[in-house]
Amino acid sequence: MQKDADGFITGVPEAGPAEEAASPKGANSDLINSTFEVTVTLADQQGDPNSPLYSAKTFEELGLHRDLLKGLFQMGFSKPSKIQERALPLLLSNPPTNMIGQSQSGTGKTAAFVLTMLSRVDFSKNQTQALCLAPSRELARQIMSVILVMGKFTAIQTEYAIKDHLPRGATRVTAHIVVGTAGTMIELIRKKVIDVSGIKVFVLDEADNMLDQDGLGDQTLRVKNMLPRSPTNPIQIILFSATFPDHVRNFASKFAPNANKIELRKEELNVDNIKQFYMDCRDEEHKYDILVSLYSLLTVGQSIIFCQHRHTADRISKRMTAEGHKVASLHGAKDAGERDAIIDGFRDGKDKVLITTNVIARGIDILQVNMVVNYDLPLMADRGSNKTQGDLSPDIETYIHRIGRTGRFGRKGVSINFVHDKKTWNQMETIEKAIGKKITRIETNDLEVME
Ligand code: ADP
Repeated sequence: MQKDADGFITGVPEAGPAEEAASPKGANSDLINSTFEVTVTLADQQGDPNSPLYSAKTFEELGLHRDLLKGLFQMGFSKPSKIQERALPLLLSNPPTNMIGQSQSGTGKTAAFVLTMLSRVDFSKNQTQALCLAPSRELARQIMSVILVMGKFTAIQTEYAIKDHLPRGATRVTAHIVVGTAGTMIELIRKKVIDVSGIKVFVLDEADNMLDQDGLGDQTLRVKNMLPRSPTNPIQIILFSATFPDHVRNFASKFAPNANKIELRKEELNVDNIKQFYMDCRDEEHKYDILVSLYSLLTVGQSIIFCQHRHTADRISKRMTAEGHKVASLHGAKDAGERDAIIDGFRDGKDKVLITTNVIARGIDILQVNMVVNYDLPLMADRGSNKTQGDLSPDIETYIHRIGRTGRFGRKGVSINFVHDKKTWNQMETIEKAIGKKITRIETNDLEVME
C-alpha cells in the first residue's frame, strides 16, 4: 500500500491472473483484475482503509442475505469488481455511513448501490425505505431493471417516480424502493403519494450532474429537504458518479456529510479499453457524409451518435432514414412513451444505431455498444452569453460519460470525434489535454484502422 501526495492511503490492487471463468458471460476480466487506483478516505478517521474489513474479495463475505446472493449469481456476478470490493463493505457497514464514490463508467457502481438499497430494505414492512434519483427517465428505468433482477429472489416491491408513469389518481405508493427523476419525485412526495417517513437510504446516481447548481441541483436539494431528519437515525446518503468536477465536490460533501469517500485519480478517469480517435472533416456537410460512410462499421455491433442539439439529431436521423439506413433517434423533446420504446428497441438490438443528445450521455449500460461517435463535441451550455458554438468550452465530464457508453465492464470500445474547423479542433485538443490521453487521428478515407 502506498500513500499519495495528500497522505491518503491508496489501495493498489494486485494484478492477479486473468480469471476468465470468474467473469460474466462474454466480458473480459480486465476490470475485475484492473489496476486503477482509488483513494479511500474514511469518515471515521480512526479507521484504517487498508484493513481487510474494508475490502471484500467475495460477495459471500459481505454477509448478504442468501436471496440476494442468488440474484447476484444468476446475473453472472461471481465476485465483486474493484469498486465494489472497496465500496460494498463501507456501504453495508452499521451504523450506515454516507458515501461519495467515484469510479469509471461501467465499473459496477450501479450494482453496488442497488445491492445496498436491497440489503437495507425490511421486506416485512409495506413502506418506502429507499429513494434513488437519476438524471433521465432512461437511466431510472435501467436502474429499476437492475433492482428487479438482483432482487428477483426477494419480496421486493418497487415503483417509479417518472413522468406519466403512475396511473392518474394513484394516491399511495408503498413500494420499498422508488426510483425516479427529481421533478416527479418532488411532486409525488409533495402530494403525499410517496410517504418518506420510513426512508433509510437516499441514492443519487450521476451525483455530480444531480448536484450541479446550474442544473438539477436545486431540485435534488428540494427532495433531500423533504426527507425526515433524525439525529439518531440519519438517512444514509449515497452519491456515485464517474466524474466529480471540483465545483460540485464541496456541495457533495455538504449534501452527504461525514461520508466515506472513494476517489479516482484524475489521470484514471478514462478506461484504457476505449480507443479514442478523431476525424478531420472539411465542414458540417462532410461530417454527415463521413457518418454515412461509417454506417457499415457502426452496425457491426451497436453505436451511439451524440449531437449537441435535438434538431441535429432529428435532421441527420431523418436524412439517413430517407437514404435507406436504419437508425433510431432519441432526445428529450420526444414524449415519454416514445422514449421508452426507442431505448428498449435499441437495448434489445432491434436498432443498431442510435442518434441522440446528452440525454443518454450518462449511465446507460448496453454491453453491445462498441462505438460512440461525437458527431458534435460536447460543449458547456451557453448561459445566455450568446457565444457561438465554436467559442464554447468543451464539456470534459460529458465527454468522459459519452465515451463511457462503450467499453462497459472491461469490454473494448471505440470512440470517434468529428472535428471540422479550427475551433472544433481546439476544443478537441482541450479535451485531450484534460483527460491526458491521446486522441488519434484517422484519415477520413481510412476506416480500417479501427477494426
Ligand atoms: P457503472 O454504474 O459503474 O457504470 P454498472 O453497475 O452499470 O456500472 O456495471 C457495468 C456492467 O457490468 C453491467 O452490465 C453490470 O451488470 C456488470 N457488472 C457489474 N458488477 C459486476 C460484477 N461484480 N461481476 C460481473 N459483472 C458485473
